[in-house]
Amino acid sequence: MEATRELPDDLKRALEFHGHLCPGLLIGYRAAMAASHALGVGASADEELVLIAENDSCSVDAFQAMLSTTFGKGNLIFRDYGKQVFTLGERGSGRAVRVALRQDALDAGTPAAGMLDRDEKIDRLLRAEEQDLFNINSVRLELPAKASIHATVPCSRCGEGAMETRTIRSGGSSFCLPCAGDLGLSAGS
Ligand SMILES: [Zn+2]
Ligand SMILES: [Zn+2]
Repeated sequence: MEATRELPDDLKRALEFHGHLCPGLLIGYRAAMAASHALGVGASADEELVLIAENDSCSVDAFQAMLSTTFGKGNLIFRDYGKQVFTLGERGSGRAVRVALRQDALDAGTPAAGMLDRDEKIDRLLRAEEQDLFNINSVRLELPAKASIHATVPCSRCGEGAMETRTIRSGGSSFCLPCAGDLGLSAGS
């Protein structure tokens, strides 16, 4: 059934990256389009773009695939708020746009109609007008201070290297966080 839908090329790319077509990916796809249009930037691989994602669900993958704001490059910042809210900005100018999924974006319309099912959500997300899905506002980009590079030290238990600031010192040894957890060590013990 999914194969019979006519999908735009950039959505196909996001789909290939994510692995399945789901309402979450489509929220991200539409949000990425809305944000890049509002900001006046093309869907380019410009590393000056930064995304602040307030969730770590399927939707973020659409941004990674379409706008190249990726976890690995460090221009994807995750804030664990559990909200379908995305702030896309330019590092240089500080210009940014905040795109928030409207609370009623996926409502069936009347209480009697109940909830949209998965396929109905997908159809709605493919067809709805941008303003019916999102609240879109211009904001200033506020970025956390750049993370500095820390030394890597070997864990005294498993031998694997870990960033020094992510290790726990105990009895003159350093332990990675999983090993410290296994040993019942905590910071300052
Ligand atoms: Zn998904
Ligand atoms: Zn370890």
